[in-house]
Amino acid sequence: MKAKMPPQWMVETHQLTRIYGDGESIRALDGVDLQVSPSELVAVMGPSGSGKSTLLNILGALDLPTSGQVLINGQDLVKIRNKDAFRAHTVGFVFQLHNLLPTLTACENVEVPMIGHLGGRARRKRAEELLELVHMADRMNHLPGRLSGGQRQRVAIARALANNPPLVLADEPTGALDTTSGQELMNLLRELNQSQGTTIIVVTHDPTVARQTNRVVVMQDGRIVRQDIIQSPLEEDLKVWRHSHLGQHIMNQEIEELQEIEISRAEVQAIRSVLQRGNMRQLPASPSGS
Ligand code: ADP
Ligand code: MG
Repeated sequence: MKAKMPPQWMVETHQLTRIYGDGESIRALDGVDLQVSPSELVAVMGPSGSGKSTLLNILGALDLPTSGQVLINGQDLVKIRNKDAFRAHTVGFVFQLHNLLPTLTACENVEVPMIGHLGGRARRKRAEELLELVHMADRMNHLPGRLSGGQRQRVAIARALANNPPLVLADEPTGALDTTSGQELMNLLRELNQSQGTTIIVVTHDPTVARQTNRVVVMQDGRIVRQDIIQSPLEEDLKVWRHSHLGQHIMNQEIEELQEIEISRAEVQAIRSVLQRGNMRQLPASPSGS
């Protein structure tokens, strides 16, 4: 018997198309080719209506494509008979609005997806561990109504991880949060990505969130029109710096002129060499892109 190789891609789509309605039909997705490696953290950006949620819903088997192919962890979604079992074990969803059950405590909410898969005690134990992982151990027995927006999203992430899925899909998880809570949530997703090796796809409008991922996929009119590899947050910061007024000034002026602002030759050279180091690789747009 041939040993089963782990699939090369956690997510692989070929010419994925989703058309809504008939007559005046809407091409929500129009020939999307996307590949996401295991353990990658990817941001999906693009204007409202560009197909981001449609893409996530299909990847999570909540919706079906009109045409094209989707492989998740090597499994062809169209061929999966038991979609519920697939969803329970392969994907975890985090939505913009947490949709926790209001009458259940944080811990009970996290236990819900494990019902039917684990016994009562094991469920409780796992839920407690997960809440610890998302730094919510001290709020375990609170009802959602007594938690802040950021805390509810943490619980929603713990719930998404309940059955240890290799893939987490997050649709604007920071959308309803203030900047600080959004930042904390993103740190948490990064932590999970690094410590658990979970593949994460996060839809966001926030460039600061996107900068903290490995890759940004930009959508427009149901197509992927651009993909940027993010080298590291530091390099992204350097890029911003390099293109700033001050950065340009330091890079382009004669050193003697810069000494007017009381900056030494050694300082200018040090700053220049740091600014030069940041370097972002940009993938070509997909052939169907505009
Ligand atoms: P985004 O998440 O990027 O804002 P969506 O994926 O929600 O975009 O929507 C993409 C396009 O598909 C939009 O034009 C939207 O109006 C349309 N659409 C989404 N869901 C439905 C639906 N259930 N029925 C009809 N059209 C839909
Ligand atoms: Mg959306």
